[in-house]
Amino acid sequence: MAECIFCKIIEGKIPAKIVYQDELVVAFEDANPASPIHILIVPRKHIPTLNDVPENDPILSHIGTVATKIAADLGVAQTGYRFFINVNKGGGQVIFHLHAHLVSGKDMGTRFIKGAIVLAVGWRKLVAKLQSKS
Ligand code: AMP
Ligand code: ZN
Repeated sequence: MAECIFCKIIEGKIPAKIVYQDELVVAFEDANPASPIHILIVPRKHIPTLNDVPENDPILSHIGTVATKIAADLGVAQTGYRFFINVNKGGGQVIFHLHAHLVSGKDMGTRFIKGAIVLAVGWRKLVAKLQSKS
């Protein structure tokens, strides 16, 4: 695909920090990382979305296997990481060349719980304030 940014990265026409490649996939660092570790695993073949993967195509299991290898290489296989695919605009997909995200480096579970506690405490304070006024 001439206008596809990930095809251009795969063809070496635009730069990327490649961390792994084989005959089926290329994996590189996300240009706008959401976390200290943010890798994109991309099939060499231009497949627009997850919905377009043919049944019985080995690419998805291969992407999963590659993710576990990269996670092990980066030392986060045991501590943990997030692995996901955004599908179409409503699913947050911006680049329409299939890719899986491997994200790690922040304690995502703890951050989520801390955020929830801050919200809950804030909400209780607000309710108490409103009740004291009435
Ligand atoms: P998605 O929202 O699932 O389509 O994710 C697209 C991802 O591609 C985003 O996280 C972007 O930061 C990333 N991205 C966009 N352009 C580049 C690029 N040239 N090199 C590396 N990552 C990119
Ligand atoms: Zn492409």
